[in-house]
Amino acid sequence: MANNLIKGIHHVTATVNDAQEDYDFYTQLLGQRLVKKTVNFDNNRVYHFYYGDEVGTPGTIMTTFPYKGQGVRQGRIGTGQVAITGFSAPTGAIPFWKRRLQDAGLAVAERTKFGNPTLQFEDPSGLILEITGNDEDERKPWVTAEIGQQEAIRGFYAVTLSVAQAPSTFDFLAKEFGFTKVASEGRITRFAAQDGGPGQYVDVREDRGAERGINGLGTVHHVAWRVEHDEALLAMRSRLADELGFKVTEVKDRNYFHSIYFRMPGEVLFEIATIPPGFAIDESVENLGQSLKLPEWEEPNRAQIENGLPKIKVPDHV
Ligand code: ZN
Repeated sequence: MANNLIKGIHHVTATVNDAQEDYDFYTQLLGQRLVKKTVNFDNNRVYHFYYGDEVGTPGTIMTTFPYKGQGVRQGRIGTGQVAITGFSAPTGAIPFWKRRLQDAGLAVAERTKFGNPTLQFEDPSGLILEITGNDEDERKPWVTAEIGQQEAIRGFYAVTLSVAQAPSTFDFLAKEFGFTKVASEGRITRFAAQDGGPGQYVDVREDRGAERGINGLGTVHHVAWRVEHDEALLAMRSRLADELGFKVTEVKDRNYFHSIYFRMPGEVLFEIATIPPGFAIDESVENLGQSLKLPEWEEPNRAQIENGLPKIKVPDHV
């Protein structure tokens, strides 16, 4: 059986606008660590930033492609996409985050979602983000000069998928991913990977009649789910492609993980990614994110690639 192999969220990848704005927002305002700075393997004029905890533990990794100046249009958030990317922080830190986000000039909507206090706001590119207050997250956070242990984001809490019709998605998550339906509220149904908990929830929102999402700036490109090893990845690939007839990519070597991509029944682009080898494979934990990492085949073009990328100002204390 392949249906208990998905352990939770691995990462979320978004198409965003300006590189410096994106860097400042995720590292300074949200206090995430830049754990890897590389380029889009398909377009080396665009960075690929990975933000997370100290080592970029799967379940904490937000990744972005800042496409400003590359002719990519503003996207539209709609069905067939991850509509909301949710982070986790202690319940007691919600007033801190509300103030901090508002002080930065953001509009913050506060409400209770599945019993938890939740802040909703947008990043500089228009991605819809949330911080969910909860007291069940044992993960050790990355802390900064401004954001301490009591407040820091622990990683993801949940992603919200917008789908035109929910039943096929419910069926897929339950049967193929082995997720359990744990709650529902209005048009949103919550599923849990394994035993649930922060980083292991997916909220399926049925948006009947809503416009289809358009990939572009300010939209999530895909959500990746984590598996323990290559064998699990291959088992999922074989089940999805050979037995169920999904169009699944070959296994890709993403340097820091191996992965496959496919569109699930609700049209959202899913990736399944291995937990190993992780981000410390090509630089030490201490130095993660500090130098530009290129795939081997791009190394001969390093000088030219560095020249073509926007310069990023990094504050001294990082
Ligand atoms: Zn990915």
